Amino acid sequence: MTRHFRCTACGKCCYGQLPLTWRDAEANAHLFPLGMVWTPVPQASKDFNLASQLGTTLKLPDRKELAILVVPTSFIPATRPCPALVDNKLCGIHEQKPARCRTMPFYPYREERFQNEVIKIKSDWECDTSEAAPVIYADSKVLESVDFNTERTQIESEAPMMRRYVEYMMKYTPTLANQLTLASTSGKAKHIVTSLSSFITATRYQDAKALARRQIPVLQAAIDHAKDKPELADFLRYYDSWYKEMSYLSQ
Ligand code: SF4
Ligand code: SF4
Repeated sequence: MTRHFRCTACGKCCYGQLPLTWRDAEANAHLFPLGMVWTPVPQASKDFNLASQLGTTLKLPDRKELAILVVPTSFIPATRPCPALVDNKLCGIHEQKPARCRTMPFYPYREERFQNEVIKIKSDWECDTSEAAPVIYADSKVLESVDFNTERTQIESEAPMMRRYVEYMMKYTPTLANQLTLASTSGKAKHIVTSLSSFITATRYQDAKALARRQIPVLQAAIDHAKDKPELADFLRYYDSWYKEMSYLSQ
């Protein structure tokens, strides 16, 4: 199957959570409220092998396994624009925008031969998918694959650090394994969210104070956006807690 695509820079996909490499998260800590999003991938999923390679695996009591992906994420509600979006349309950090944004509409946690399935354009997005647009996918291959490969390589290089984080969290949060197992079988919440501060502690991040100081105003803006909006109460709980943690780390 051949797929055509051209971004017309409408800005409509620049809302809600943005998965990042750690490198992009660190570089943009002054812009994005950062959380660590855990996704359990069941053994029966076609994404299991790649997720095991890019993440880690958890053995379950029934001898099955779960692959676990932990992804640094700009953690904002689906209704809120990316903090880097300018005039509701343009990327304010275009030249340095994260790998995830460069690789749209592909997805690094699925094998290349299945990428056709992840090219999903929402009805209100203004992507050009007509035959006049360039071919981006053919014969199960991503064409012009430099950005796709760069993002994947970056994630692979960060995988050992993410595994160390998972080991640390499993050791000190014994309920996490159960939460992940439940999340993997639940029809609803398929993710678990942990804090940047736990990642900083687990990986013995070198410059925690500076990173925390960059997060504080970002979290304050996120709190200001979410407060008085009952539908964002869950986000507000995270932001309040992360703000306190970052304030402590910034001392
Ligand atoms: S960084 Fe730029 S391209 Fe990426 S979501 Fe934000 S505004 Fe959009
Ligand atoms: S929705 Fe499509 S056209 Fe609009 S910014 Fe995103 S990728 Fe580009």
